[in-house]
Amino acid sequence: MSDCIFCRIAAGEIPAQRVHEDEHVVAFHDLHPQAPTHVLIIPRRHLVSLHAAGDEEGLLLGRLLLAAREIAERLGIGTGYRVVTNCGASAGQSVFHLHLHVLGGRPLGWPPG
Ligand code: 5GP
Ligand code: ZN
Repeated sequence: MSDCIFCRIAAGEIPAQRVHEDEHVVAFHDLHPQAPTHVLIIPRRHLVSLHAAGDEEGLLLGRLLLAAREIAERLGIGTGYRVVTNCGASAGQSVFHLHLHVLGGRPLGWPPG
């Protein structure tokens, strides 16, 4: 998807501060961080959101979550962090390529807004 920002980041066409990448997954710092640590984890393959993922995406979804754990540990927030994915505009999704937010480094309130 040449008009998708996150596909372009995954392809290296738009710069991002990467913290992890492998065959399936890319992770990079959010441009507008909402916490001292705010990383986005995306699949290389374009999927609109969690809601667009089918059963066949189970392994890929697991890879995203395991990357979140590994990155949180490596960036020093392993004792307290939040993993969020916004599905749909009404839930705050603004980039329509599936991504996990990993947030940490400050106390995180609940419920979220
Ligand atoms: P959403 O609102 O879809 O859940 O999250 C999209 C996130 O992507 C936002 O937190 C926003 O700051 C981030 N973002 C949007 N464009 C870019 C970009 O070009 N580079 C990076 N690193 N983050 C971006
Ligand atoms: Zn995309």
